[in-house]
Amino acid sequence: MNKYDSHYWSGWPGAYCLKCGAGDPNEQALAEGLWGFEEDPIDPNGMKEIWTGTPEQKSKLEEDCICKVKGELIWDNYKGAWDLKVDKQ
Ligand SMILES: [Zn+2]
Repeated sequence: MNKYDSHYWSGWPGAYCLKCGAGDPNEQALAEGLWGFEEDPIDPNGMKEIWTGTPEQKSKLEEDCICKVKGELIWDNYKGAWDLKVDKQ
């Protein structure tokens, strides 16, 4: 995924996209308990992330990770505001 298609997160926790206003689907899935952790069989001190939701919820999450607003968000020092650059590189 390139910057053109990605969300631009405000910061965590409670992140939202500065381009489209959507919440972070991964953070939401974590809050809904769709991500879990289990002991890592390779690393006895480690934990690994596991998906505990349905495959449908997983594909929706992947879909939600693509920002609906296309373009790259660049900080404009002159305007003192974010500028959406829509030209594809
Ligand atoms: Zn977005």
